[in-house]
Amino acid sequence: MIIVMQPQAGEREIEAVKERLQKEGFSVHLSQGVARTVIGAIGDKRRLPASALEAMPGVERVIPILHPYKLAGREFRPEGTVVEVRGLQVGNGQVQIAAGPCAVESRAQLLETAEAVAAAGATMLRGGAYKPRTSPYSFQGLGPEGLEFLAEAREKTGLAIVTEVMGEPEVAQVAGVADVLQVGSRNMHNFNLLRAVGKTGKPVLLKRGLSATIEEWLLAAEYILAEGNFQVILCERGIRTFENYTRNTLDLSAVPAVKGLSHLPVFVDPSHGTGKRELVAPMAKAAVAAGADGLIIEVHPCPQEALCDGPQSLTPEKFSTLVREVAELVRALGRELARTGQ
Ligand code: PEP
Ligand code: MN
Repeated sequence: MIIVMQPQAGEREIEAVKERLQKEGFSVHLSQGVARTVIGAIGDKRRLPASALEAMPGVERVIPILHPYKLAGREFRPEGTVVEVRGLQVGNGQVQIAAGPCAVESRAQLLETAEAVAAAGATMLRGGAYKPRTSPYSFQGLGPEGLEFLAEAREKTGLAIVTEVMGEPEVAQVAGVADVLQVGSRNMHNFNLLRAVGKTGKPVLLKRGLSATIEEWLLAAEYILAEGNFQVILCERGIRTFENYTRNTLDLSAVPAVKGLSHLPVFVDPSHGTGKRELVAPMAKAAVAAGADGLIIEVHPCPQEALCDGPQSLTPEKFSTLVREVAELVRALGRELARTGQ
């Protein structure tokens, strides 16, 4: 890190900062200009955080040199990470499409949706058995029964299963069925859950927090990677802004930004990102154009009867049209749509 001293900082203050750094094992390089002194320091920030230095007399600001996320940073794996999901290679340049209902509501609803999205060209089936709902009075998901239906849908269609795990106590149970463990937006800061999904070694879809910066999101991924699990897919799902016409503001600039900063594949969720059915296909195409490795899209056989997120859910017909349009765009970009079983 670089410590910029205030112009009026005297010898004693500069010396105090230097001594403190050296005491914590940092190597220190002093650059004394005409107006002010700048101190370069290399060492373990856990022993001396920037905030402690910033609190010292005479210090103006502390500038980190390296990203705080080390394992998630692109420098760590310049070639990029490919996440293996049931024979699918996420992040290999192909575009993956995960689709399905917001919530698993019944066996019939899930199987009908699974068959439809598989026929349209999806490679993964999404659907929550455990639902993070704003109100405790809203449908909370079918729990273990929902997981059984997901396993059956995989059996029938060959689709990989993406499903959310909301809490540490359910990690083993959900990991027993899921091909990809989803950590939802509201749980992006749940560091114990991140460690727990990291320990499973299973692929994780890490959604961006409702109000998380890109750096906070990558640091959340760092928790999973730090457990030795590099099977992480990031998912941009919109952030909360002053705009309330859409449910969230889909931050598509985050896609190329994160692909530059990190080696991890990035998905986009235009369903939660917009909250409006008619905006899903345009944003799905924009996401692919921005370089997304995959899409995750809500589809329901009868959106007006959905127990959760009907207004943003596509009918199977609309989803099928979306896949055709995305496929055309993907070809124009010189990429390919992934296929199940490849
Ligand atoms: C979901 O995908 O079902 C979901 C709840 O999404 P998010 O965590 O992004 O709100
Ligand atoms: Mn939803």
